[in-house]
Amino acid sequence: MELRIGVIGIGAMGRDHVDRINNRVNDARVTAISDINQEEGLKYGAEIGAEFISNAEDLIASDEIDGVVITSWDPTHEEYVLEAIKNNKYVFCEKPLSVDSAGCMNIVNAEVEKGERLVQVGFMRRFDRGYEDIKKELDKGQLGEPLLLHCTHRNAEVDSKYDTPMAVENTAVHEVDALRWLLQEDFVQAEVILPKKQTTNTHANLHDPQFMLLQTESGVCIDIEVFVNCKFGYDINCKVVCENGEIGLTNPTYYSIKTENKDYKRVPSDWKERFIEAYDKEFQLWVEGIKQQRITGPSAWDGYMASVTTTALSLARDTGEKTTINFEEMPNLYKQEQFV
Ligand code: NAP
Repeated sequence: MELRIGVIGIGAMGRDHVDRINNRVNDARVTAISDINQEEGLKYGAEIGAEFISNAEDLIASDEIDGVVITSWDPTHEEYVLEAIKNNKYVFCEKPLSVDSAGCMNIVNAEVEKGERLVQVGFMRRFDRGYEDIKKELDKGQLGEPLLLHCTHRNAEVDSKYDTPMAVENTAVHEVDALRWLLQEDFVQAEVILPKKQTTNTHANLHDPQFMLLQTESGVCIDIEVFVNCKFGYDINCKVVCENGEIGLTNPTYYSIKTENKDYKRVPSDWKERFIEAYDKEFQLWVEGIKQQRITGPSAWDGYMASVTTTALSLARDTGEKTTINFEEMPNLYKQEQFV
C-alpha cells in the first residue's frame, strides 16, 4: 500500500523531502501540500501532482492523508504537531520540535495522553553511516568508556538572517541529539566560550565561531566548534576519545583530484549533500513505522531533551557562566525505545 503524505511548508527543506518521498522512499507519495504562500503552493502542487490545501489544519484533518511532514517555519511546528496528534495522524516534524522546551513538553504530554507514539523528529544524523558505525563500535565496549568528544560543525557561509542564537538552536542542535544518542546519556552542564577574535566574514548580529562545552551525567566532556562562515565547505567532524583508543568520522569520500603537484579531496557543499543518505533512511524508517503502526525514530522526548540542552547552551553563552541543565522525568511511553 502506498501511503499518502501531506507536506506543510514547501521551502528548501520541504521540497527536498518531497523529492525523496516521491523518488527514493518506497511505499509513499506526496499527495497534498500546504504553505502560507498560496500562489507558490498552487504552482508547485501542479508541478508534482499534489493537491494544494491552503489551510494546514485541513490537510492534517483530511481522511486522504496517512502521514504529515512539517517543514514550515520553526514557530509553527508545535501547533501543527499538536493538531496532528489530536487527529491521530503520524507526523514527521523537522527540528526544532518547538521553539522552546515548554512547547516540546506540551507535545510530549499530548502524545502520552494518546498512549502511543505518533511523532518522529528530524534528527537525521542518527541515520548517517559514519555515526551508526561509531555507535556500533562504542556499544561493543572494546574501546572502553568514552572520556572526551571533539566535534566541529562548519558551514561554508550563512545568510544575513542567521544570527548568534541560531548557532546553538539551528546548528549545534544536531550535535546535541546525535551525541546524546551515541553516548546513551543526558547532558547536565553547558558552557559557551566566545573567542576574543571572530572571523571578519561574519556580520554584526552573528558571533562566529562559537565554542560550546557539554558534560554528561557520567562526566564525559564534549567540545563543539560551530563555525558557520568557515568558507571552505560543509565540514562535520566527531572524534570520541575512549580509554583504549579513539574513534571518529572520516570525511566522506566523494572523489579526489590530483593535479599540479597537489592531491585534493572534495568537501561537501552543504547538509543536503552530506546527509542525503541519512535523510532518505530516516524517511524510509518513518514510512515503515506508519505501516506497522510503530514509530521508532527520534521521539518527541528526544526533541524535548534537545530543547532543554540548547536552551542551557544559549543561557550559558548570554551569561558567560556554566549552566546546569534541568529536565523532567522521562514518561514510560519513551522508555522502551530510548536510544534505539
Ligand atoms: P524555508 O525555506 O524558509 O521554508 C519554510 C516554508 O514554510 C516557506 O515556504 C514558508 O513560507 C512556509 N511557511 C511559513 N509559515 C508557514 C505557516 N504558518 N504554514 C505553512 N507554511 C509556512 O525554510 P527551510 O530551510 O526549508 O526550513 C524548514 C524547516 O526545516 C525549519 O524548521 C528548519 O529548522 C528545518 N531544517 C532542518 C534541516 C535538517 O538538517 N534537519 C535543515 C534545514 C532546515 P514563506 O517563505 O512565505 O515564509
